[in-house]
Parts: sequence; structure tokens; C-alpha cells
Amino acid sequence: MMKSVAMNLLITNARVVDPSQELDATLDILIEDGAIARVDKRIKAANIETFDAAGLIATPGFIDLHTHLREPGQEHKETIATGTRAAVAGGYTAVCAMANTVPPNDERAVTEMVVAEAARNGWCRVYPIGAVSKGLKGEELAELADLRTAGCVAVSDDGKPVWNAQLMRRALEYCSMLDMPLIAHEEDANLNEDGVMHEGYYSTLLGMKGIPAASEETLVARDVILARLTGSHVHIAHLSTAGAVDAVRRARAEGVRVTCEVTPHHIALGDESVQSFATNLKMNPPLRSEQHRQAILEGIADGTIDAIATDHAPHHFDEKNVEFDLAPFGVIGLETAFSVCYDRLVRAKVIGLDRLIELFSCGPARIFNLPGGTLRPGSLGDVTLLDLDARYEVTREFQSKAANSPFVGETLQGRAVATIVGGAIRHDGRTLLPAGTTKAARKKK
Ligand SMILES: [Zn+2]
Repeated sequence: MMKSVAMNLLITNARVVDPSQELDATLDILIEDGAIARVDKRIKAANIETFDAAGLIATPGFIDLHTHLREPGQEHKETIATGTRAAVAGGYTAVCAMANTVPPNDERAVTEMVVAEAARNGWCRVYPIGAVSKGLKGEELAELADLRTAGCVAVSDDGKPVWNAQLMRRALEYCSMLDMPLIAHEEDANLNEDGVMHEGYYSTLLGMKGIPAASEETLVARDVILARLTGSHVHIAHLSTAGAVDAVRRARAEGVRVTCEVTPHHIALGDESVQSFATNLKMNPPLRSEQHRQAILEGIADGTIDAIATDHAPHHFDEKNVEFDLAPFGVIGLETAFSVCYDRLVRAKVIGLDRLIELFSCGPARIFNLPGGTLRPGSLGDVTLLDLDARYEVTREFQSKAANSPFVGETLQGRAVATIVGGAIRHDGRTLLPAGTTKAARKKK
């Protein structure tokens, strides 16, 4: 990776919150040769760069399971360099890169290109996701073993579902042998038919074509059945409806290998907001009604939901600057995810801070079997530092190439201020904060 290569670092005086060890205490963290060496009280180490984290929370590095980096092929939207710069600005030390690039990541040459570019110009770790089917067409399986060997950590035709149940079954059987999850984007395009928002009261009121909850729920039901049949691991992407939460909850109780993620925008926003016709409220799955949003919050609180994933989907300003009906689906999320979720989940008392951190780091690592997600000695020296008192207004000034965020203009509290990847400081936002705005900044004065 680019930038300084300080592989040794001592982080002092942090409140270390590591749900993987049920740890919550003021401690120092020593990183040596890019790995966690010790987490202890007042560590003494000579000739080492020191990061004073008094007033800050230190957690295992955040991992995003669902990022669209757009490279290769759509570099006017985002690149591996700018997308990973956005990731570290949001506290992420690793992102999983979706396969629906141009060309799609359906063969090892594309995976190898992504891995090489991430090594050259990436700011954080990049784990490629391969395609399930050749050309994402849903007709013929991609060479899944090749993709796995080249470095893919999962496969997905995200952007589309796998229509064909037989192809899905065979893909799941291969994924079991290759020990990786299949990420399912669940929608039935026939039920969706030109829909642009959630089908319900507001779509009727606004006279817009709707995407029914059943579109997602029918495919989730099918894939729970296929996961049971094959004994394979299905991971449901950006789950958005009450019925889908319920289906996952019941399947897991029966021992079916189903995991799932939700996005910050589905946690924070509902379909009533679409009355503004702002195209940065158009995404797929769409913002749902309050009943569905409440079901997602329940799933987060009771442990049904394993991870918060951004579905970071950058688009160029001109692409989104059109009528609602014509705009592409998707919003960015890497740089605001933690703040939005801290606000809507922890400050709103849905869950505690430890559970939120689990959803951003330990959970994603566990379900995709990725390194990281813990500060145990010997694990990756990936650490996210949070300032829970920092208040800031979200502006269009993003590190991402894109600015299609539904949160621009909101004032949020709590943010990732520094991001350490393998012992190297990849993002240090403390210098960007106006003096006196945060507890940490005040202490330093
Ligand atoms: Zn998707």
C-alpha cells in the first residue's frame, strides 16, 4: 500500500472496546511488524511512533462487506484509490469489492488486476468478490475455483439476483467446497417492474411505480430453502424488509447457514423522505416504510443481523442530476456510515456501543472468515479510532469521487477520526477538526 510504511506504532490512553474479547478498558495498544503485539496498561516501548488517543475509542478496524469501487471500467464514478481513500476516512481498514465492474470480476485476470491495483494505490485492504455467473448474466457459472485461488473471498452477482434456482444450487455447492459465502442480492425483477421506490402509501401518494417488499422476500425464502438443501452459506445483502428479517431469524434458529447485512440508509431513513424527490434517496432495495425499518432495528438488537455494510455505490453528479424516475440506483456510504449508525442506534438507545462496533468489525470478519475483527495479539494491526463527541455537518466534500449521499446537510455526532492499517496511520482526521470541537481536541490544548 502507498504512503508511509510505519509498521510499528504505540497507541496510548485509548478506551479500547473490542467485542471479540468483551474488552472495554483504558489501555495502550502496541503494534509491531504490522500486527497487534500487546494490549495492556501503560506499555513502555522505545524508539517507536506514538499516537496519543486520550479521549478516543480504539476498536478493531472496520470492515465493509459491500463496496462498489467501480474499477475497472467506471473510473469516472470511483477508483480503487479514491474508494479506499473514502474508506479510511470513514474508519474502514478493509473493504470487500463487488464484482459488477466493467468488465465484471468473473475471471481471475480481473481479480488479479484488482488485487494489484489495491496493493499499488489502495489506502486500505481490498478483498475482491467474484461473480457467480459469467458476465453476471445468470446463465453459466463463472470459474469459481479460479476466482477463489486468485483471492476472491466470496461470490455475488450483486446488482442482480441469480434468477435460475438450479444455477443457484450449483453455485452454492461449489461455494461449500471452496469454503466461501455466496452473497445474494434479492429481488424479483418481474415483481419490481420499473419500480423506483418502495411500494406503499407514499408510492401511491406520489404516483410512482413501486418495488414491493415481496420482491425481496420471495427470493430470500427461496435462498433459505437452497441453503438448507445444500448446507451452504448464503449471505443476504442489504436486507430491507420485515419479512426478510423474519425469514433469516427463523432459518438460523433451525441451523440453516444464513447471514445478513443491513445498510446505514435503511437503518436511518424511510420512504416518506422520498417526497423530496431527491435522487440521492433512490437506491435498490428502496427505502422502506416505518414498519420495515422498525423490524430491521429489532433484528439488529436481537442479533439476527450480523453486519452493517454500506453498499457504497458512487455515481457521477450528472448521472444523479436528473428526474427521480431516470436516476441510477445507489448512494455512497463509507464516510458517513459510523456517524449515521451511532446516531440512529446508540444515541437512540437501540443498542450499546459494543454491539455497534461488533456490527462494523467483528461481525463482518467472522461471517466472511476474514482476518481482523479483533485486537487479540497476533492479529492484524488494524485499528479504528473514534471520537464520540465530535459533531460535524456532512458537506459535499467527500474523499470519494462521488457525493451522492442522502446525509449531506445533516449534523451528526461521533465519527472515526483516525484509521490504522497494519500499524500505518492511513487517515488522521484530528488535524481536520476545528480546535475545541471535541473532547480529544480540548484535552490537547
Ligand atoms: Zn445489491
